[in-house]
Amino acid sequence: MTRTAWIRLGLFLVAIAVTSALWSRALKGQSDTRDVSYSELMAAVDDGSVVEMLVESERLIGSLKKRTPDEREQKLVASRLPGVDDRELLERLAKGGVKVAGRMEQSSIWPAVLSSIFPLVMLVFLFRAMSGMGGLGGLGGRGAKPMSFGKSQAKIFDRSAENGTTFADVAGVDESKNELIEVVNYLKDPEKYKAVGARVPKGVLLVGPPGTGKTLLARAVAGESGVPFFSMSGSEFVEMFVGVGASRVRDLFTQAKERAPCIVFIDELDAVGKTRAGGGVFAANEEREQTLNQLLVEMDGFDASVGIVIMAATNRPEVLDKALLRAGRFDRQVLVDRPDVRGREAILAVHAKRITMKDVDLKVLAQRTPGMVGADLANVVNEAALACARRDGKTVEQRDFEEAIDRLQLGLRKDGRVMKESERRRVAWHESGHALVALSVKHADPVHRVTIIPRSIGALGATLQLPTEDRYLMTEEELKDALVVLLGGRTAEELVFDSVSTGAQNDLERASELARQMVCRFGMSALGAQTFGRPGGSQYLGGAVSFEERNFSEATAQAIDEQVHLLLDEAHQRARAVLAEKRAVLDVIANALLEKETLDRDVLEALARGA
Ligand code: ADP
Ligand code: MG
Ligand code: ZN
Repeated sequence: MTRTAWIRLGLFLVAIAVTSALWSRALKGQSDTRDVSYSELMAAVDDGSVVEMLVESERLIGSLKKRTPDEREQKLVASRLPGVDDRELLERLAKGGVKVAGRMEQSSIWPAVLSSIFPLVMLVFLFRAMSGMGGLGGLGGRGAKPMSFGKSQAKIFDRSAENGTTFADVAGVDESKNELIEVVNYLKDPEKYKAVGARVPKGVLLVGPPGTGKTLLARAVAGESGVPFFSMSGSEFVEMFVGVGASRVRDLFTQAKERAPCIVFIDELDAVGKTRAGGGVFAANEEREQTLNQLLVEMDGFDASVGIVIMAATNRPEVLDKALLRAGRFDRQVLVDRPDVRGREAILAVHAKRITMKDVDLKVLAQRTPGMVGADLANVVNEAALACARRDGKTVEQRDFEEAIDRLQLGLRKDGRVMKESERRRVAWHESGHALVALSVKHADPVHRVTIIPRSIGALGATLQLPTEDRYLMTEEELKDALVVLLGGRTAEELVFDSVSTGAQNDLERASELARQMVCRFGMSALGAQTFGRPGGSQYLGGAVSFEERNFSEATAQAIDEQVHLLLDEAHQRARAVLAEKRAVLDVIANALLEKETLDRDVLEALARGA
């Protein structure tokens, strides 16, 4: 629900509380009232416990004497006896020492009036609130008429107007694009396909990690084929009132059928399409289930010749209900994966068109951003432009991009942080240690840049290595060299300062984790080609492994620990050997770092060669 809808609901509840409180007060007054028989009331009068009597034409209301001053007022109410006339009554009251008051009847009308009007007021209120919510989910509650909730306003799903997206706006996912070209061709000329009796997939499901461009691709398909684009997000279907989601689905398809050929796009399908697990106690589950069922009904309700292509996107295909994936529904699935290095370059190029830049090497930037998806890269370009503006530059340059990537990968630079000179020296030698080892061992990734500018996320410096291409597998030699590089920083500290610092904590964690994986996952130790432990949790699409199941004995655990230790020890010895041998170069690099704070690859390599 949108925020406005929540506020509305809040106001609504407050209104109910206030009205019902007022109502019960109007009915009851502030005192405890008890209905009694005439004779009970008269008995109270006779023994003097009644102080005052209100005489109405139908009732007698006697107020009881308070026993303590702050006791609540107690009242006894009795109907008048037809046979007893006023004089007789008044005499009896006078004898009991009761103060007498009379009242005409009007006041007792109020409860009756209130109780007949109140439900009406409530009903009107309820309808307004509900219709308001119904309208809000779609397009910011535009002109919601009472009673129209669930029935969406015309055009609410039609997002074609805001769509000028083409395939040229989507880069780096060529395989996914190729799969979708057929859909575009079909939508452009459905008759051609009908003529040969070809059946085009009714539903196309785009699957991939967040930010890879699934939504963008769907828009591009619509933009390319020039057909109306009806889109809705799964979370918009799941509303508060049961039945609204289902009726939205119905409306969506009704509108789509009127405008065929067209595309119906359901973003975040997992919000509605989750497996219909049993035990759904909550209304939200019930609601989602109804919505999902309606979606299935609609998908089956027309045949491919109508010319509607249903597209949907999700980054959690594993939770989808199997019924959605059956033939005749989302029977074609298109993987939109993380881009490789060439893909990243292409994506950067697409977004770089929007800014003015000079002498920027997108290839290097693509190499520096492994693992980043389209949305991240769009962000890099924007951050670079911001960095340029911050330094009052006219055109965006390579250094702005470097700054932007550092910022996203390492966190904000902390210019304000003052480091003691002794700390700076330690960091300089630590980073030089990493860099020099990386330059010296055979299989390490080349060093791109070394910096001792502190960043906000814990790091006091960084050695950035540049994988020359995306890695799909790494050899044992490469992993062992990576261990040596990781330990290079700490080893340099040992050599130069004869002590170590806390600055190497992250290096140690990564090295230990890597060594353990080499033993347990990759079979790269004396324990041989075997894995130990079974990772649990979801591994789909690179999901995090959340726990490990232990499936080996205590003795094996000990052997694993030993092997991990051996690997780390060997790496440490190697790092020490390299740095001890090249101690002079190490000092040159560290001093240069202290002076310049950042050293780029070419400078570094020149220094290492002793130039
Ligand atoms: P998803 O739907 O897969 O989570 P989006 O399509 O919403 O990702 O992508 C968000 C933004 O990231 C897009 O609007 C676009 O600016 C950028 N983007 C993502 N992928 C790409 C791509 N392959 N090419 C160009 N830009 C992309
Ligand atoms: Mg999306
Ligand atoms: Zn380090």
